[in-house]
Amino acid sequence: MSLYRVALGHALLSAVVGILVLSGLLFLAYVPGWLLFAWFGLLLVSIALRCPACGRNVYRRGMWVTPVPVKRCSKCDEDLT
Ligand SMILES: [Zn+2]
Repeated sequence: MSLYRVALGHALLSAVVGILVLSGLLFLAYVPGWLLFAWFGLLLVSIALRCPACGRNVYRRGMWVTPVPVKRCSKCDEDLT
């Protein structure tokens, strides 16, 4: 599985967990502890997802950080798909 697909799956999972955490905060005023740990774990994984050639994070486009991973590295143009 390519780095792009892993990062895309991670982005979707992060979005689902983020929606669960936010809706728990807004509507129930309660968020299960394991969900916060999962969210924090996903954050650590997102930091670890880096271009194999130059080490730039796959969520960075130039100076911006986006929720969707890049298909080509924004620094060295390595194909991540
Ligand atoms: Zn790179």
